[in-house]
Amino acid sequence: MDKNELYILYGNEPHKMAKEILAEIKIEEEIGRDELIGIKPNLVLARSSDSGATTDPELVSGVIEYLQEKGFKNIIILEGSWIGDRTTRAYQVCGYDKLAEKYGVPLIDLQQDSAKNIKVKELEIKVCEKALAVDYLINMPVLKGHCQTGITCALKNLKGCIPDSEKRRFHTLGLHKPIAYLNKALQQDLIIVDGILGDLDFEEGGNPVQMNRVIAGKDPVLVDSYAAEIMGHNIDDIPYIRFAQELIIGEMDLGKARIIELNKDKGAAIKRKSGKIKRLVQNVEEEMACSACFGNLVHALKRLEEQGRLNHINEKIFIGQGFQGKELTGIGIGVCTKGAHKFIKGCPPTASEIIKELLSIY
Ligand code: SF4
Repeated sequence: MDKNELYILYGNEPHKMAKEILAEIKIEEEIGRDELIGIKPNLVLARSSDSGATTDPELVSGVIEYLQEKGFKNIIILEGSWIGDRTTRAYQVCGYDKLAEKYGVPLIDLQQDSAKNIKVKELEIKVCEKALAVDYLINMPVLKGHCQTGITCALKNLKGCIPDSEKRRFHTLGLHKPIAYLNKALQQDLIIVDGILGDLDFEEGGNPVQMNRVIAGKDPVLVDSYAAEIMGHNIDDIPYIRFAQELIIGEMDLGKARIIELNKDKGAAIKRKSGKIKRLVQNVEEEMACSACFGNLVHALKRLEEQGRLNHINEKIFIGQGFQGKELTGIGIGVCTKGAHKFIKGCPPTASEIIKELLSIY
């Protein structure tokens, strides 16, 4: 897999999807037989993955199973939850205890680990020693919003690999710069994003948006740039992405990326919607919309609400395969709604594309 490539697989079967995407990128060809493989999920707190906060253990189980089937035995899972929670509790509540037992994979609590100082330019960063000892690091963040940094995905997920004292210091340093610097101190080899269900705007979960996709890449800057795009954020609103590019960690220009969509979303089922999401979509008429498409629309409407532009949309919004071939009075989202008198092309259109078009109309 080249560093400029991003693989996207749509669906809602995490275990199967993890194996499929790894078979596509053939990671076994780049890992030495005896190398220590570390899997870093996002278990920021003890809350199950259906909240939109944490990495689905089924996605991790697919990665472990694939690696074990290829003969890799030296695998660990490592995480340090946020200061307000204990990693051991998160492992248990999020289903990782069972996973570890089933596959014989140790769970490492980085909150209990010692740390080493790594100097990156003018900044010294404490990084957990067990994370530094890993030969091949697989970062498995959740695609979700964050109340301070806009999004949290590949770059920010490494914050679980520093001691609690350092997490506190990162906040005093304004988060963005130290997050970028941390990614220079600790490098990741592969990123597999749990983009099946992630929170709308909060790292703690509670307003899950079904986005139905797994994203794989090697460049955390490119992965985060893509995450920002599909959640409808302007890249300049997330300074750590640009800082990371300036540190030559990766490339944020999606124009230079090769985005490989391995399939199309077929999942028409939209799971439960929280009150916040119901409010955002009150003007939306949905009929058999793919979850990926609907998820992008939810993020787009949220961004417009933040900009005070949501109430400028004074027409009905249509989305879903049920509108194929129908004449519609209002605005359509995606190729299925071609019959609307205004429609936004794409299958699915990204949140950024939806925002751009809606802003040009209203
Ligand atoms: S445009 Fe239609 S088929 Fe394409 S993702 Fe949206 S709902 Fe699904």
